[in-house]
Amino acid sequence: MKTNMMAEMTWVEYQNRLKTEPLAVLLPVGALEQHGHHLPMGTDHLLPTAICKGIADRVPAIVAPPIAYGYKSQPRMGGGNHFPGTTSLDGGTLTLVVRDIIKELARHGVKRLAVMNGHCENLFFAIEGIDLALRDLRYEGINDLKIVRFDYWDFTTPATLDKCFPEGFPGFALEHAAVLETSMGLHVFPELVRMERLVDDLAAVFPPYDVHPTRQEWVPPSGVLSPAKGATVEKGRTLFNEYVDRISDALRKEFAEAA
Ligand code: ZN
Ligand code: MN
Repeated sequence: MKTNMMAEMTWVEYQNRLKTEPLAVLLPVGALEQHGHHLPMGTDHLLPTAICKGIADRVPAIVAPPIAYGYKSQPRMGGGNHFPGTTSLDGGTLTLVVRDIIKELARHGVKRLAVMNGHCENLFFAIEGIDLALRDLRYEGINDLKIVRFDYWDFTTPATLDKCFPEGFPGFALEHAAVLETSMGLHVFPELVRMERLVDDLAAVFPPYDVHPTRQEWVPPSGVLSPAKGATVEKGRTLFNEYVDRISDALRKEFAEAA
C-alpha cells in the first residue's frame, strides 16, 4: 500500500521514503470552529488537509496530520470565540505546538516543509512557531531546513474570484463559512455539507475595530459572515484545482532551490 499520509505509514516506510526521495512534508494548520449550520466544525483543517493530499499526488511529499485546533476565533473573521463547539488554543500554546512539530520533523531529517494555514487567526502564531523552531535548530547546528508558509486562499487568481463572486468579492475574512468554504466543502466532503440547513443571513457589517469582551450582537446568529447561497460544487472544484496547481508550482520552485 502506497500512501502519502504520514499517519498511515509505519516509521520504517516513513524513514525509507525520506532517505530515498527529495520529499517535502506538508503540515496543515487549521481550527475546530463553528462554520454556520451547514458546514462541519473541522472545515478549517479538513480543507487544507485535502489540498495537501492533492499536492502530494503531484510533488514528492508526505502530508503530516493537521494541527486541528487553532487560535481563538475572532468576530470579524470567524464569528468569535463564544459559539458552542469552537475550541481554541491560546496563542502561546499554538506557537509552541507548531515549534515542537517542526523540531521533530527536523530531527527526522526533513529538509523541506510547507506549512499551510486554513484559519486566518493562526497567521502570526504559525509564523512565530516557525521562527522559534528555526532559531532553536540553528543553536543545534541544523541550518538546512527550508520552510514555505502560506494561507491557501492567497493562491486564488483574480479570474477565479470574478467567476466565483459575480456580485463582488467580500474579502477573505468575511468569507467565513460562505461561498468559498462552502463550495470547496461541496467538492471535498459533500457528505458533510448540509445545504438544506443553510441560513439566509445578511452579510455581517462590522466597524473597523474590535470591542472586548466580544459584541456578540454584531455577529449573525448563524455564525456565517457572508451569504453562502452562491456556493456550487463547480466553484469548489475550480478553487480546489487552482490551489493544488498553483501551490504545487510554488513548492516545486522553492524546493528545487533547496535540493
Ligand atoms: Zn473556515
Ligand atoms: Mn476559521
